[in-house]
Amino acid sequence: MSFWRHQLSGPTDPARDAGWNDPPARKGFFTDTSICIGCKACEVACKEWNQLPMDRLGMTGASYDNSIGLGASTWRHVAFIEQTSERIEAARESGRALIDLGMPALRTSAPQPAILPRATAQDASRAQPQGITLTGPGTSAASEVGVAPTGTAALGTDPAVESGVDPGVVGPGVVDLVAAQEAALAAAATGTLPDFRWLIASDVCKHCTHAACLDVCPTGSLFRSEYGTVVVQDEICNGCGYCVAACPFGVIERREDAGAGTISGVARAGSGSASDGTVATRADTGIAQKCTLCYDRLHADAMPACAQACPTTSIQFGDLEDMRRRAGERLAVLHANGFTEARLYGANPDDGVGGTGSIFLLLDEPEVYGLPPDPVVTTHDLPDIFRKAGYAGLTMLAGAALSFLGRHP
Ligand code: SF4
Ligand code: SF4
Repeated sequence: MSFWRHQLSGPTDPARDAGWNDPPARKGFFTDTSICIGCKACEVACKEWNQLPMDRLGMTGASYDNSIGLGASTWRHVAFIEQTSERIEAARESGRALIDLGMPALRTSAPQPAILPRATAQDASRAQPQGITLTGPGTSAASEVGVAPTGTAALGTDPAVESGVDPGVVGPGVVDLVAAQEAALAAAATGTLPDFRWLIASDVCKHCTHAACLDVCPTGSLFRSEYGTVVVQDEICNGCGYCVAACPFGVIERREDAGAGTISGVARAGSGSASDGTVATRADTGIAQKCTLCYDRLHADAMPACAQACPTTSIQFGDLEDMRRRAGERLAVLHANGFTEARLYGANPDDGVGGTGSIFLLLDEPEVYGLPPDPVVTTHDLPDIFRKAGYAGLTMLAGAALSFLGRHP
């Protein structure tokens, strides 16, 4: 029974379970929403690298978010969560210490630079946990935000300097954006929350330890990679959509149409505009699509495009164990400074999906971010079901045997 328990639910090494001999360390993301500035660089980088067509771009009228949600063509989505005074009031009544990330603003007096070098703010070999040191509620609003280039570097006051990036070449307003967020967090610490608040979170496929999408796929299109991630093979998917219904996070989706082309204008095989101006059908139209954790980049020993592009290292990538450790350390810093509503999501290997390969540090309850509070993989209860069915069968057999024993000749 313990064999099945480990295969179907609970902590396990998914790559070994999938039959990989001597796999590399499991890889994963740590998304720290407390330092996300909502720039959507991760979203764009994902679209660019994976040549994903535009979809659903627009305004809902209810949010500043213009890409609406994860989908077949949006594998990273930066959610803006706007909350009005009524919502804040209700949360205050429940005793929660709310955090407001504020809406970042650009300061026009800032040096107007060229571009942010892609690999300066974060590099796979030197990415470290973010340091935001904040004073607790009721104390002064001093705080520090730092992108520490080494494990021993002090938490700095200027993220550009701390990251080794020459402020003269940092992208427009990046330093100011982080500073604005720092001020908003500090205001939260002193209890001076505005009547309206923003939370921001960059969402992605969770690369579950026990992935329901993979469990139900009848064609083997979804597979567990040697890095412990869950990847779709376009060529094998038959578009049945079982995985879409099975995913407890609503991540995977069938691509219903060709989309409006790719952001970069580079068309994938079988897609793009024909010379007569008509839009050809993408080869992957109708099949299930989702984040692959940049499987191709991992093979090249490169980090996923979203993590590479994130200017604040809100998205970190590496060995999952390391990500769990960093997330725990970061949570401890926030809690020590009075942000008791901060919590980890996906870091518990005993949860309903055996923990996830994408760990999040959230500043409020998962539901606030549109995440299920207690996701459960479809196969989670199978061992119990088998056990109960076994007991029922044995009871029936025993009853039948007793009925024969009780008969008179
Ligand atoms: S989040 Fe959904 S799509 Fe991603 S691995 Fe888990 S079940 Fe599959
Ligand atoms: S790139 Fe980083 S800071 Fe910008 S939205 Fe994505 S996670 Fe947030």
